[in-house]
Order: sequence, then C-alpha cells, then structure tokens
Amino acid sequence: MTNQKFKKKLDDLLLICQKNLPKTDESLIRRAFEFGFNAHRHDIRASGEPFFDHPYEVAKIVAKEIPLDDVSVAAALMHDVAEDTEYTVNDIRAEFGDDVADIVDGATKISDIFKSHEVTQAENYRKLLLSMVDDVRVMLVKFADRLHNMRTLEYLSSEKQKRLAKETLEIYAPFAHRFGLANIKWELEDLAFKYLNREAYDAIARDLKSRRREREHYIRKFAQPIEKRLREVGYKFEISGRPKHLYSIYNKMVKRNKPLEEIYDLFAVRLILDTEDNNDCFAVYGIVADTYIPNPERFKNYISVPKKNGYQSIHTTVVGPEGRMVEVQIRTRGMHEVAERGVAAHWMYKENVAIDEELHNWVTWVREIFETAAEGQAPAQQLMESFKLNLYQDEIYLFTPKGDLKILPKGSTPVDFGYEIHSKVGDHCIAAKVNGRIVPLDTLLRSGDQVEILTSKSQTPNPDWEKFVITHKAKSHIRRWIREEQRKAADSGKEIWEKRVKKAKISINNDDLAKFLTDRKIDNTTAFFIGIKEGKIDPDEIITTIIDDQRHPHPVMPDEGRLTGLFNKFLTSARDVAGGGIVLEGRQDRYMHNYAKCCQPIPGDDVVGFVTTGEGIKIHRRSCKNIQLMMQVENNRIVDVQWPSNNGVMFVAGVRISGDDRPGMLNDITQAISSYVNTNIRSVNIDSSSGMFEGTFILNVQNTDHLNKVLERIRRIKGIKRSERFEE
Ligand code: MN
Repeated sequence: MTNQKFKKKLDDLLLICQKNLPKTDESLIRRAFEFGFNAHRHDIRASGEPFFDHPYEVAKIVAKEIPLDDVSVAAALMHDVAEDTEYTVNDIRAEFGDDVADIVDGATKISDIFKSHEVTQAENYRKLLLSMVDDVRVMLVKFADRLHNMRTLEYLSSEKQKRLAKETLEIYAPFAHRFGLANIKWELEDLAFKYLNREAYDAIARDLKSRRREREHYIRKFAQPIEKRLREVGYKFEISGRPKHLYSIYNKMVKRNKPLEEIYDLFAVRLILDTEDNNDCFAVYGIVADTYIPNPERFKNYISVPKKNGYQSIHTTVVGPEGRMVEVQIRTRGMHEVAERGVAAHWMYKENVAIDEELHNWVTWVREIFETAAEGQAPAQQLMESFKLNLYQDEIYLFTPKGDLKILPKGSTPVDFGYEIHSKVGDHCIAAKVNGRIVPLDTLLRSGDQVEILTSKSQTPNPDWEKFVITHKAKSHIRRWIREEQRKAADSGKEIWEKRVKKAKISINNDDLAKFLTDRKIDNTTAFFIGIKEGKIDPDEIITTIIDDQRHPHPVMPDEGRLTGLFNKFLTSARDVAGGGIVLEGRQDRYMHNYAKCCQPIPGDDVVGFVTTGEGIKIHRRSCKNIQLMMQVENNRIVDVQWPSNNGVMFVAGVRISGDDRPGMLNDITQAISSYVNTNIRSVNIDSSSGMFEGTFILNVQNTDHLNKVLERIRRIKGIKRSERFEE
C-alpha cells in the first residue's frame, strides 16, 4: 500500500477544500478519507488503478468544481462504501452522524436503482427524483460521481459505455441544467456524445481545433479596443472567448440543418466584471455598444429578469471587425459563479439556507406529482418523457385520464386542455379535475398534471373564458361561438322588431331608425336587435317614441327629459292595468319585463315588480333585500305581478352545494341534476380545499317545484353536506 502517495493526496484535497469552501472541518475530511481508503483498500477499478482513486476524484469535483461543503466532500469520499465494501451506511452513521450518512445512503440508493434491470427506466427516473428531494446534496454528489465515471468511461465495455452515456444524456444532463450546473451539464453532454456518436464527435472536434488559432486571433482583435476603454475607466475585468461545446454545436447543426462553418460563424465573448454593483454591467454594455454597433433585436437583459435557474447576465450581439457578428455576455463575478455552478453557488453564498425558495417549490411540486403517480394515477413512462422534455422547454406535458400525452404551452388552463382534446369537449366543459382534485376552470396547469374535463350538454362557451385561455384553438372557438350567438340573437331580434312594426301598421324607414339609435347612443342595428332579443330594449316602446317623434317633432328636447316623459307615461299605463297584477307571459305580453339578477326569481316565488327607467318592469322576489329597500324609498314604483300558468319557459336559478371532495363526487352531482327531466346545468364553479368542496351551480329550471326536487336529489348523494338555493 503506497501510504506515502495517499498522504500527499489527502493534503492536496484539504488544500482544495480550504481554497474553495466557506469552511472546512479538517478532521472530518481526514477521517472520511481514511475510512474510505481503508474500506476500499482491496478493490481495483476497471482501469487497474486502486478503487479509492474514484471516490477521491469525486470528492475533488465536489470540493472544486461544484463546490459544495465539507459534509458533501466527506460523503463523496465514502459514497461507494456501502455499495462495494463490507461496511454499511450504519457504520458511517455511527462514525460520522446523520448528515454524512444520509447523503451516502441517498447516493447508494440511486446506484441500486440503476443496477437493477427489472425496473423500467421511467421508474428509475422517478426514484432518482424522490431520493433527491430529501437532501439536494445527494444529487450534487451524484452528479460529481457520474462526471468522474464519464471521464473514465474508456475502460468499460462498449455496451456499458453506450448505456451509461445514454442515461447521462437523458437523465443527468437535463437535471444538471435544471440545477444551473452549466459546466457539468456541458461536460456530461460532450462526454456522452463522444460515446454515442463517435464519428460526429471527432469531426466536430477536429474542425474546432483547426479553426482555433483563427478564432483566438479574431477575438483578441475584437477585445482590444474594449479592454482599452474599460481600463481607462478603471474597471477590473476578465474578457475571453466563450468555450464551444461539441454537443450543442452538433444539435444546432441537426436542428438548423446547416454545415459546421455557419454554426461557427457567430463568435462569442464573455466579459466578467470584478464588481458588486450590477449597474456596472449596464455601464460596460454602454461602452461595448459605443465601440461596435449593436443589433437591438439581440439584446437580452437577464439581470433585471433572471432565468428560472437563477442565471443572470446581459446578452448582446454586435457587429465586430470585418462585419462579423459577435455575441457578448456581460456579468459580474458573482453572477458568473451562479451561471457556472447554479444551486451550489447559492448554497455557498447563503449559509444556512439549504435550498433557495424557488428550487424548494419545484422540489415540492415534483414530490406531489410523484406521490400521485405512486398511487397509480399517471403512467410512469410518459411521466418520464414529459420531464425529459420539460427541463428544457416552455411547454407543459399533460395527461388525459387514459394516460395520453398532450403538449400545451405554459400557462394553459383546463379550458385550453378541453379544446385541445376536442372542440366539443371545450365547448361543453363545466368543471375539471387535476390529479384527482376538482379545480376551477382557470387553474394554471403544470407539467405532469393529469387532467379530466367534465362536460355537460347544456353548457356553452362562457365569454369570460376568453380572458384566461391562452391557446389559439381555445380562443378562436370561443370567439367563433360568441360571434355565432350574436348573429343568431340579432336575427331573431330583427324578426321580433319587424313583426311589431308590421303589427303597429306604421312604416319606419332606415333613417328614422338610424336617428333613433344615434339619439339612444346605440352603436348599430346589430346591437339594437340583440337588445330586443335579450329583452333590454322594448320594441313597442320604441315604436311609440318614433311615432311620437314623427307626429310632434321636438328637436331640442334633451334625452333626459324625453326618457322621463316616456317613463311617466309607461308607469301610469302600467299602474292602470295592474289592478289584479300584471300577468307575465313571456315575450308576448304588453309590458317589457325582466328578472332581477340579485334574487333571480323563478315561477312559484312570491314576486313583485319594480318599474324602471328604460328597462321595463324588473321582477324581484318579495324576500329580496334590494326590493325591500326600494319599497321603502319608492313605493309608488312597485307593481303587483303574477306568474302565468306553466308555459314551458325555463328560468335561471343558482344553487350552492358543499360536501366531501371524494372521487366521482362532481360526476354524481351532475348526473343527479341532468338526469332530472328538463334540468340543464348552465355553469359550475367549484373550490375545494382540505377534502371538502363548495360549489355554485347555475341551472335552468321551470319553477320552484322543479328546483326543490332537484335540490332533494342532490341531498341524497353520499357525502353531500348542504344543497340549497343560492340566496344573497
Ligand atoms: Mn461512484
């Protein structure tokens, strides 16, 4: 045993720790080194080197390239002990305590997962995530482990090389990216690429090498005038050509279908400022833009708006010497640390902050998803697919209840999802369940969500949806529906109007009507006809007014006065016939009327009418608080009204339901409602929290009898706590 050699190695490692880590517990590193060395003393690597070389190199990566903390370095030195030697995690726990032991345990479990050939790859992925969420340091040690294994991959069989390279490209590199470990990500990708596509790798590497001098020369030429000015102002900085990554060049070639030369065409320069003041970056940008003409479309300010993984920098593209485009990145030293080392840099700078909040949220979300998946709700294979892709893109990956994958843009809601499945599903959606829970229709969906859309034949698109949907498909369907509805309403409004005009045996030409509309500030005839159809405009009243105008033109009469006059006439006439109460007969009766939104009366309710200006008689329930107030203030405008005998007209009623939020609940409710003769659901609004839900359903019913029967049916459903008419 070459003790002398390893003594030197330990000193080297301690030096690296002291240089790179915020603090170093020397005795901890020393003991871990000895423990690891001793445990592996009989083992040999495929390369023929002592096995301990591997954990030692991993520890160096953890100390220098990520860099983490002394606890992680200690864990790295022993990360293969439990897997490959007679010692167990418990031995480590007894000797080093929980922190170190838990990291070793996590790293060992991940290795176990990949060794077993029985579990699917997707399952591996899931477990990798699950093990990661306990302590983010497990993942970081694992990245270092994988990096060293990839660096020494040449000694393994070609079959093993391919398998590890693929796994690295599919799983470790995207994760390193999400953690903001840019350098490790690039290296993992390039190494994997080398073993997966040797020919392409060699070709690009050769080409890069042959152009290196030319590139370096050009970048020096480009940098000179900038360096001069920065020195004049007194900045401390570092300016360099940005390293090129083979795999990303290869990807660009494939994606853009372009030859090597064109991909190289863009030079890239990085300017790192030794300053604490972010504003210096903008000042330096000013100097760069003053030296070379910038392309304003290629300016990105990631300083004010950092990327999701914490990346900050200014990116700009300028026209350099010989008219060649040069991309310039400007950042402070601190930003550079985060860019290269991501979460590990946060770790270093914020002591006692184990995980920054955003990563924490992400981790929590991942855990939630996988807990649901563990209950057998989402297919693991597709879940994996979605994560693989989502780590790079602004799209989200969703699943139907049957497990089909749907890809939607970030920010999509259940309504977008509904339209993505089919326009009919979108048009008729009344509610949604995400991962088995009822959610409002405007909920933001997230990757991995399993989404179930509940539909009702009677539901139609709600114009409000347009405010929150983001897909083109959903927007255009909703708009088309609104336009179509308006056209239909205008058509039937026009029909009503023409019948009334004919019945009044008068002639109203277009000019008369146009003049009237202008006076009333109505935009156009379409709006006018829709108003008639919706009962907001009474055709008879307008005919009277127009006839009045024709007989007694009064050009200077102000709008207000005429309306008041009209109103008084209307009121008197309404009170005259109101002896026994006005009988409401739908649209055919003499008096324009409509139903108050505040109390939404339906036949069977005790009602009264209130004579309004311009909207005819408004019908309220006698119990309505609003009408009770008005009765006190303007009792003279109250008229008695009576419901007609049942004529099949449908009324709108709101009901409020609450109960247990159990699987199938919403379905049971919609079933109970819609299976009752002639009951339609207009809309549903549901909130659920801690196992309970509360919802408002808007229904079409004939009268109070009808409504009460429906409420009774709902009450009989298992788990319903309350089912009653909506009262203010
Ligand atoms: Mn290892």
